[in-house]
Amino acid sequence: MRKLTVCALSLLLAAPLFAEQIELPQDVQTFPDGRKPIEQLYERYLGLQQAGWIVDLVTLSQPDGRDDALPIIALRTPHTGKAVWILSGIHGEETAGPNAIAESIDSLVELGRHQAVVLLPLNNPQGYAHNWRYLNTPEYSAEIDGQSVGDSSHLLLDPEKPGQARSSAASSLEAAAITRYILENAKAYPPLISLDLHEDNLINEGYVYSQGKLGELDPLASLAVEILRANDIPLKMDGVTRFDEPINQGIIGPVVDGSIDELMSAASILVNGQIVPGPYADTVLVFETPAAAIPLSQRVEAHAALLKHLAGEIGGREARSEGAE
Ligand SMILES: [Zn+2]
Repeated sequence: MRKLTVCALSLLLAAPLFAEQIELPQDVQTFPDGRKPIEQLYERYLGLQQAGWIVDLVTLSQPDGRDDALPIIALRTPHTGKAVWILSGIHGEETAGPNAIAESIDSLVELGRHQAVVLLPLNNPQGYAHNWRYLNTPEYSAEIDGQSVGDSSHLLLDPEKPGQARSSAASSLEAAAITRYILENAKAYPPLISLDLHEDNLINEGYVYSQGKLGELDPLASLAVEILRANDIPLKMDGVTRFDEPINQGIIGPVVDGSIDELMSAASILVNGQIVPGPYADTVLVFETPAAAIPLSQRVEAHAALLKHLAGEIGGREARSEGAE
């Protein structure tokens, strides 16, 4: 095992940062379909430390039926403030995002020069290594509902039951740890923009969810649609998603789905029985690229283009607002 000394946030906000060892996995059999071996992903992500970024261990993930404990890591810029949050690899079989981030370290360094950034590049490392979406079953099961590492229903208010969360507890240790990490770090890095890189192998045309304050009118959502189309990703521009949500110009407005993206956009949430302000990001985008008929290399390029161009646009805004001061 290779060891790295990193900073990990303790569970208590008031506690000081302390150094902890992250054990990087070695010799994990990554599903062999052309995706990068998982060791290589960690290696690339940790390259951000050379630009001064700080790495945190969110938790170790070892659900039942898995031989190795794999770290879920986060990286953040040393400067705090209103931040761009980037999430990826929530669903293990959706590999374009985690691979594109590994190819986009330079874009991220550039974005992080003047802009606070928090990156959770591989939220479901077990799913990535084993090409499986969820945690609680090692493979597809018709009987068992899959649990997503991004499940946030324990923090989200139940529209039917005022003052209550949609579930009484987090659906997994991983979901508990990831959501806790977000809420802890949202204090020093309040989410301004949240980007979540997904795919869907059951669709032939993709789309972009826009869960933030401007909903489907968010100009960054329109820019994302343009970038995907310019990179030869077919998009469904109108009609409905496979979940029957209406699509307008390739964009779907806010949806109630218990996801981490709903958490990032929530104005109020429930923590320890108390209603408190939520992360409430201005822009919350979720990219869904069609995965079945398009080679991984092309999907990776499209996701990398999203990161590069959105980072450029966001960095440009930052520079313009600095110039205006
Ligand atoms: Zn997904």
